[in-house]
Amino acid sequence: MQASTEGIRAMEPVLETAMSQFHSAADRIRMDDGMRDLLTSFKTVYQTEFPVDMDDGSTRVFSGYRVHHNAARGPVKGGIRYSEMVTLDEVKALAMWMTWKCAVVNVPFGGAKGGVLCNPAEMSSHELQDLTRRFTSEIGPIIGPDRDIPAPDMGTNPQTMAWMMDTYSMEQGYTIPGVVTGKPVAVGGSEGRFEATGRGLLYVLQEHLATVGGVRDRTISVQGFGNVGGAAAKLMVESGAAVTHVSDAEIAIHDPTGIDAPGAFAHINAGGTLRSWFDVHGTGAEEIDHADVLEADVDVLVPAAIENVLTEENADRVKADVVIEGANGPTTPEADQVFADRGITLIPDTLANAGGVTVSYFEWVQARQYLHWSEEQVNAELRRLMVNAYHSVTTRCGSADEGCTFREAAQWIGVERVIEALELRGIFP
Ligand code: NAD
Repeated sequence: MQASTEGIRAMEPVLETAMSQFHSAADRIRMDDGMRDLLTSFKTVYQTEFPVDMDDGSTRVFSGYRVHHNAARGPVKGGIRYSEMVTLDEVKALAMWMTWKCAVVNVPFGGAKGGVLCNPAEMSSHELQDLTRRFTSEIGPIIGPDRDIPAPDMGTNPQTMAWMMDTYSMEQGYTIPGVVTGKPVAVGGSEGRFEATGRGLLYVLQEHLATVGGVRDRTISVQGFGNVGGAAAKLMVESGAAVTHVSDAEIAIHDPTGIDAPGAFAHINAGGTLRSWFDVHGTGAEEIDHADVLEADVDVLVPAAIENVLTEENADRVKADVVIEGANGPTTPEADQVFADRGITLIPDTLANAGGVTVSYFEWVQARQYLHWSEEQVNAELRRLMVNAYHSVTTRCGSADEGCTFREAAQWIGVERVIEALELRGIFP
């Protein structure tokens, strides 16, 4: 065990978190060193630097990454992130989490992730299109509907996926809708995909709170108001909860009577910002410090922005009874321990935010069959898979000898399903 964990210290915190979660699960199921090495290695690590012509006539070189973690259970799948924080270690951590997540919800994919180091907020649509097309062409040899299927993540959206699908298709000579998911419906996207991660989060939370009255009348605080946080907040309000605190990178807001999250989310999707919504519609709400969102006195906290925001430094001040992870990796292992000691239930990312990849799977199936499911069908299947995954985690937890956290149970399920596939397939040659 010591030999396997020594290397962790040289990593960036996010990869350290992913490795630490893996090794603590591996310790308890007494995994041998060979399997540890296999599951902490990465099948493909692709790094590229590529030029883009900018609107001002200059040429800028961008760094991009695509990482495949493990493909034992099927083609690899994972989002593409555009952010100024992207690093290779971050992309590796996110790819590894995708492997466990796909296994936890039992969709037939391995884990991948990609990213480009850029600030999409400061780029024009034309520049973003050129960057996306060139990056797609660069990673073209390692993606494909049977190999690696990208999707949106932070800083990317359905339009980005439409450009990726078009670029890949043009280079192959015919339309291949199954190469990416999270596309607009008009070019082969799935009904329900845009809100799927937030909706999956709601379904898991509803199931978790089912015996104590459900989501209705719960108070909720949401960090991050993008695709995941904004949709989750909207759907939770529509289910009767009061979202009293929200934030994005620019502003944090509190309204004790409940924020109009559906209105704010619609405003943002029409091109506005949380601040511009607050300026016009925020009567009764007040601007607060960003830290107050994580430490709010609410029933449920939804971190849905970035990694490593719940740490040993602030975990003691979290007042929510339930933390449900919309973002990937928002909680450090030290904060996990504080929450476990304090009796705060943490529903981990690999379960809670798996709704996105689940509906991506439905989109991929529809693309391959040239079928179009109704939104009702998508949501019903999403609920079925998320509820099944929630119960496999709680059941696994209940059967653990010395008890366990939901994070440990989800990690065990993910790892065990991947090991089963690896053992059945064997090692080539
Ligand atoms: P997004 O770009 O749509 O939204 C991100 C939001 O977080 C924005 O509102 C941004 O302003 C906010 N934000 C950034 N830094 C912040 C900070 N320091 N404090 C408060 N808010 C901050 O991205 P997204 O797709 O919603 O992804 C958010 C997280 O969810 C990421 O960890 C991503 O990997 C994860 N995730 C996304 C999906 C998906 O389907 N999009 C699926 C699973 C997990």
